Amino acid sequence: MPEALSGPRLGVLGWPVAHSRSPQMHNAALAHLGLEHWRYQRLPVPPELFAETVRGLHGAGFRGANVTMPHKEAALAVAETATDRARAIGAANTLTFNDDGTIHADNTDAPGFLAALPAAPAAGSSALILGAGGSARAVVWALMTAGVEVAVWNRTHERAQQLAGELGAVAVRAAPPADLLVNCTSVGLAEEADSLKDLALDAEYLSRYATVADLVYRSTPTPVLAAAARAGCALVDGAEILVRQGALSLEAWTGLPAPIEVMRDAVRST
Ligand code: NAP
Repeated sequence: MPEALSGPRLGVLGWPVAHSRSPQMHNAALAHLGLEHWRYQRLPVPPELFAETVRGLHGAGFRGANVTMPHKEAALAVAETATDRARAIGAANTLTFNDDGTIHADNTDAPGFLAALPAAPAAGSSALILGAGGSARAVVWALMTAGVEVAVWNRTHERAQQLAGELGAVAVRAAPPADLLVNCTSVGLAEEADSLKDLALDAEYLSRYATVADLVYRSTPTPVLAAAARAGCALVDGAEILVRQGALSLEAWTGLPAPIEVMRDAVRST
């Protein structure tokens, strides 16, 4: 439907995307900002239809879209312009449709992750990143640009080596102690009996990490965060990271300051 009749449209492209809390978060924010005629919706799109769907969104009244698994690399590829950080990371989670129909790509996962931390990471501090997928790329890049010494562990070691090599981090085969531990794998999304072992972690040694962050979000604490809480670590959960990356996307689309508290309440109310 054209924008003039229905108001600007926004959405999240993924496959699957049913689990996403972005619609409730963004629609609460849009209402709070007085943008009641804007709408944010789920856009389930399989990989083979991603590029043609994205190219049709401007004509259907869309101002912007978030992009989640498995489309983040394709989102960068489909855009005419992109921020330096999206290019450096090699993936985009935020698309903006310009008035002339061209597509601009950004990656707000990286600054959103940094904004979710209790304090900016100190240059020279250390971090261990678990995972070598799209979100790990954004987190490793964010921490490297902050001057953090980053080690990357992944179930498939070759992927850790490739990511670490591209971004200047170090690939490791076992989990070394660090100031910050970040789970960037999908482990913990479902209830799993041995989640920590899947991640080369031992609950007894989690106190070796001052702060533990988990990108996975769900209604109960993830196994990593539950064990980290017992070990007395400071915690950063995936819901807060979702809020922070979403706030930056919303500001890019509307030009207005994002209502962080409203977004946080909407995400945590499920
Ligand atoms: P991805 O590109 O598909 O990467 C998945 C990663 O998980 C890979 O490193 C993979 O290792 C690892 N993995 C999967 N199953 C595993 C298992 N059983 N044991 C050990 N490792 C396993 O996914 P992504 O885009 O990086 O996203 C990862 C998670 O972060 C997802 O749950 C996503 O929802 C979440 N996320 C949250 C936010 C937020 O705002 N909170 C933002 C982005 C992503 P291999 O290489 O060995 O396969």
